[in-house]
Amino acid sequence: MARERLYLFDTTLRDGAQTNGVDFTLADKLAIAGMLDELGVDYVEAGYPGANPIDTSFFSERRPMRARVTAFGMTRRPGRSASNDPGLVALLEAQADAICFVAKSWDYHVRIALETTEDENLASIRDSVRAAKAKGREVLLDCEHFFDGYKANPAYALACAKAAYDEGARWVVLCDTNGGTLPHEVEDIVGEVCKVIPGDRVGIHAHNDTEQAVANSFAAIRAGARQIQGTLNGLGERCGNANLVSIIPTLKLKPEYADKFEINVSDGALGRIVRISHGLDELLNRAPDRHAPYVGESAFATKAGIHASAIVKEPKTYEHVAPERVGNKRKLLVSDQAGRSNVLAELERIGLSLDKDDPRVTRLLDEVKEREANGYAYEAADASFELLARRMLGQVPHYFDVEKFDVNVEQRNNASQRVTVSQAVVKIKVGNEELISVAEGIGPVNALDLALRKDLGKYQSFITGLTLTDYRVRILNGGTQAVTRVLIESTDETGEHWRTVGVSANIIDASFQALMDSIVYKLVKSGAPA
Ligand SMILES: [Zn+2]
Repeated sequence: MARERLYLFDTTLRDGAQTNGVDFTLADKLAIAGMLDELGVDYVEAGYPGANPIDTSFFSERRPMRARVTAFGMTRRPGRSASNDPGLVALLEAQADAICFVAKSWDYHVRIALETTEDENLASIRDSVRAAKAKGREVLLDCEHFFDGYKANPAYALACAKAAYDEGARWVVLCDTNGGTLPHEVEDIVGEVCKVIPGDRVGIHAHNDTEQAVANSFAAIRAGARQIQGTLNGLGERCGNANLVSIIPTLKLKPEYADKFEINVSDGALGRIVRISHGLDELLNRAPDRHAPYVGESAFATKAGIHASAIVKEPKTYEHVAPERVGNKRKLLVSDQAGRSNVLAELERIGLSLDKDDPRVTRLLDEVKEREANGYAYEAADASFELLARRMLGQVPHYFDVEKFDVNVEQRNNASQRVTVSQAVVKIKVGNEELISVAEGIGPVNALDLALRKDLGKYQSFITGLTLTDYRVRILNGGTQAVTRVLIESTDETGEHWRTVGVSANIIDASFQALMDSIVYKLVKSGAPA
């Protein structure tokens, strides 16, 4: 049976740009548009020309890509003609393949927010769609507050959608603008709409305010809609939009959808979705959500010993899809409750296959247990675990010694301002060479990190691509005897991420251990000679 085509519309660059704390530059927008095009979405809504200089310059020239570049904007203002509305004229001039208009579809909003009549709002929808079609653009209409509007006045909400459809809009998109509609309501209402407008002309735009944006999108598909709008990593205002990074693997891997629908995302692109998702986080300077479905580092992580031995024998027993399909990895966590099979599986993952009866496995397990009792957390620090295992096997060369370090924090008056300055001095011995580095940082750990990595002599070239992406501190027990655990995440020029851990009563010492593990791990991984 031929599969039906389902379309993906991404609004990361428009609705996603409303996310608290997100500010895209033009270069960011172009980079993200490239990622979306690589992924294979059908539409990239890139912004609102005229609303700000970045969006205006994005649409000032053709941006060639496979996806249809879409400009967002308002329908003509009430009481004006289409040609006499500067906002609409600017939108029509934008270098875009498609135009997505937003219009009110809730009678209450038409009267209160727009201060106009229901008929004038319908006329504005018709005129705007007609004007954009005359310009040769594909047209979409976002029906704002559609579900709330439908509940209040179904005839009027439908009339707004129908006005755009009758005028020739390619898509009528039903928006759950406030994000509070529940899946069964979405399914019912979309079902009603699809009796009037063919489903292959209907889209869904869901927000995540009850954490059901993904479920609402699927509810709409079940009821007949054939376009899903969403964003990468669920970026968006308040609680975000429907997360395409969760929706795409479900569409591709779950037979209920995969057998019935075809999307423009190839199997190869699906296998890069982890990288694309994390690439966006990197661009936003955020640590990826480890628990994100499909793409999170914990998405295929198993902890207890009895599960681990089963998962090695038959992965399907504990995994709903194969992690490789989305470019993720199976991970077996090593922890104090873990059995021998966890350690063995983890050793195998890092390429150190030992016989299960090898006494070194017992030694490693004992060592992990003892260290975890003292506060180390190896399941959160894969690289530190790997170093521990490799050290036991004599596989970590002796690269350098830190003979001593000194960190100082000074507060002083600078002109009329009180400033705090941190400085670190590190003395390193590489072979017979002694190196002293000094660095200032925004805090003592930053200063120590900068000084440590400033000059590693003959090893310096191996660590130039090393950067720290996350630093987390946890106090393990209260009071003055508290023990501090530091977890550091690092990355390098290959895009690999790794985590290291340090534990001490002293936060600088704990940080030092984690920093050292990160550097040594990078040297081992790069094959630096002893
Ligand atoms: Zn929205």
